[in-house]
Amino acid sequence: MRKAGRVVARTLDMVGDNIKPGITTKQLDTLVEEFILACGAVPAFKDYHDFPASACISIDEEVVHGIPGDRALKEGEIVSIDIGAVIDGFYGDAARTYAVGEVSESKKTLMEYTKKCLKAGIDKARAGNKVGAISAAVQDKAESNGYGVVRSLVGHGIGRSMHEEPQVPNFGSSDDGPELKAGMVLAIEPMINAGGFDVKTMPDGWTVVTSDGQPSAHFEHTVAITSGDPEILTLS
Ligand code: MG
Repeated sequence: MRKAGRVVARTLDMVGDNIKPGITTKQLDTLVEEFILACGAVPAFKDYHDFPASACISIDEEVVHGIPGDRALKEGEIVSIDIGAVIDGFYGDAARTYAVGEVSESKKTLMEYTKKCLKAGIDKARAGNKVGAISAAVQDKAESNGYGVVRSLVGHGIGRSMHEEPQVPNFGSSDDGPELKAGMVLAIEPMINAGGFDVKTMPDGWTVVTSDGQPSAHFEHTVAITSGDPEILTLS
C-alpha cells in the first residue's frame, strides 16, 4: 500500500505542475493516466462502476466525481483532482484542490481550511479511537469557520479494494463507529463547502455539485493506523 500511495502522490504532484488556465480537464486526465501507467500501476477509477476516466476533476461548485472533458480551466477557478492507483493488488487514493492562477481570498481560505480539516482528522486516526473521532474532528474544524460539511459522501477503508469497511464520515460524534486498530488503512477525505452542506448529482449521473452553487474543496489521504502515529501513505 505504500507503493500504491507513492504512485498516487507523485501523480498529484505532476498534475499540480500542469494546472494552468487553458488546459482542458481531458488533457489533465490523459496526463494522469499515462503517468500512473508509466509508474507500473493501473488507474483505479477508470471503468469503476463505468466511470469513463482515470481522474475525477471537479471545478468550483462541483464537489467530487466530475468527468473530464472539453472544459478548459479558467483563471480564478479551484479544481479538485481525485485519483486512485492499484499496484500489486493494493490501492491508493488521494485528492487535492488546486488554484488556477490567482484565486479569491475566500477560495484560498476554503482550500486552506479543508486541508486543516484533513489534518485534524488524520491526527485522530489512532488505535483505540473510534472512527467517529476522525469525523468529529473534521466537522468541528469546518463548522468553526462556518463551512458546510458534505454528509452524503464519506471516506472509507481501503486495501485490496478501493472502497472497504468502515465508512469514514466527516461529521458525527467521537464515539460513533468501530474502534480503530493498528493495521487498518483508511481514506480520509473531507469535502467542505463554502456554503451549506447540501449537494445534488447532475444529470450525467456522476458530478456532485453544491445545491447553493457555492464552491467546494476536497483533500484526501490514504492513512495507515499504526501502534503509534498515523502513517500518511499518499504524502507528497
Ligand atoms: Mg476516496
